[in-house]
Amino acid sequence: MTDTPLKLFNSLTRELEEFTPVHEGEARVYSCGPTVYNYPHIGNMRAYVFADVLGRTLSWKGYDLTHIINITDVGHLTDDGDAGEDKMEKMAAAKAQSIWDIAKHYTEAFWADVKALNIREPAKWSVATDYIGEMIDFAKGIADRHCYELDSGLYFDVSTVADYGRLARAVTEEGESRIETVAGKRNAADFAIWRKTPAGETRQMEWDSPWGKGAPGWHLECSVMGEKLLGFPFDIHTGGIDHREIHHPNEIAQNQAFCGCGGLSEATNSGAKIWMHNNFLVERSGKMSKSSGEFLRLQLLIDKGYHPLAYRMMCLQAHYRSELEFSWEGLKAAQTRLKRMLMDIERHRGKAAKQPIGQVDLSLYQVDEAISNDLNTARVLVIVEGILAMKGQASDRLAAVFEIDRVLGLDLATLRRTDLRIRPKDAAITEDEIEAELLRRKQARAAKDFATSDAIRDSLAAAGVEVMDGDPLGWEWKL
Ligand code: AMP
Ligand code: ZN
Repeated sequence: MTDTPLKLFNSLTRELEEFTPVHEGEARVYSCGPTVYNYPHIGNMRAYVFADVLGRTLSWKGYDLTHIINITDVGHLTDDGDAGEDKMEKMAAAKAQSIWDIAKHYTEAFWADVKALNIREPAKWSVATDYIGEMIDFAKGIADRHCYELDSGLYFDVSTVADYGRLARAVTEEGESRIETVAGKRNAADFAIWRKTPAGETRQMEWDSPWGKGAPGWHLECSVMGEKLLGFPFDIHTGGIDHREIHHPNEIAQNQAFCGCGGLSEATNSGAKIWMHNNFLVERSGKMSKSSGEFLRLQLLIDKGYHPLAYRMMCLQAHYRSELEFSWEGLKAAQTRLKRMLMDIERHRGKAAKQPIGQVDLSLYQVDEAISNDLNTARVLVIVEGILAMKGQASDRLAAVFEIDRVLGLDLATLRRTDLRIRPKDAAITEDEIEAELLRRKQARAAKDFATSDAIRDSLAAAGVEVMDGDPLGWEWKL
């Protein structure tokens, strides 16, 4: 399916651009990874569903994909600028555990969510602390011309590169005031390349460097791992839209310094040709924030009886550049939509596959057009439903749907409708008990004892179970 040229929205130019790979036939993609100081919330996971759809699309269109996602286990402060504490150090202190244990635990939790959401494994999970030596070398290479030292660390002087902040489009007074000032900084937007451990203190994570004992700044790690693992320039750099404001402009400045490139009139000077950003998943009551007690983790959705792929469906229904508002009703609707698809697929199963008919070919062409138009997954879902609703001779419809699912990643070939029947954690009744009640109800009905049969149905309903007569599934959790 490589007929339609792939067009992607480049945040750097704010335009749709045709994807032309740096290396013939290849696609090299770097995605900013999670900071593993806590569980990811489902908003974070939206960033990886988006990166996954991008990667799947590149593979589907025939590019040989190398995707890197990093794991940030050092350097990310509680503020995206240089104020605040290291998130990892702070959590480790709060839990009285070593940073390494914290990192291990939350990295594994993140990977579990990745798996549950059917996000494909990247070529490499690059862990920041594995690249400290390379970070120091990179910093040494740019220090003389672009950095200056203060008591607190080595800082990047943003006035030494052309077009600083172009990606953010708004280095306004207001924008700058968000970055807390460090005494002695030349420009408000200057940022730490290396943070020295304050005299008299020891940090759990610190390394020797030409600028004293300390730890790298957060922005440095992505520049270094991107360059080491993909080479400058690579094709696409992704992240959430918050990164468009500080983290990625700073990465770009470092990359320009590293390659001795001039301004950003040529996108390749920024280190990557295309910079892509997913918009936020938002939630009105603020449960997304990791700092509030109960926040929206994928596990919370599962505990309430939702399948993780219902959340993936919810993401795919929206365009990645649109804000998506989370609601339980919306999640329920997404789960119902996924269930309908699986029901239609089950109806088609077992019917002999014949020659593909023209209609299906046309649909595959439309899918290619939709996904090539800056990843219009919402449209692709509608096309899939159209294929499943087609009348007339059974055809190679399922094969077409499964082919399209290589891009969507909804696991349509293996997922069954019964898999969506997840027991809510607080359900008062077990599945065995439900089955026993249904058997009792069947016997009552056979004996024409409708009063008992209705009473059983009502008591199941009260326990959150919906009985569906005449449906092979038989019953379902009422969410
Ligand atoms: P972090 O672990 O904070 O570094 O974030 C991991 C990824 O999630 C980054 O790409 C962020 O930009 C992204 N992100 C954070 N919050 C949200 C959100 N509410 N919706 C979508 N993406 C988000
Ligand atoms: Zn990054």
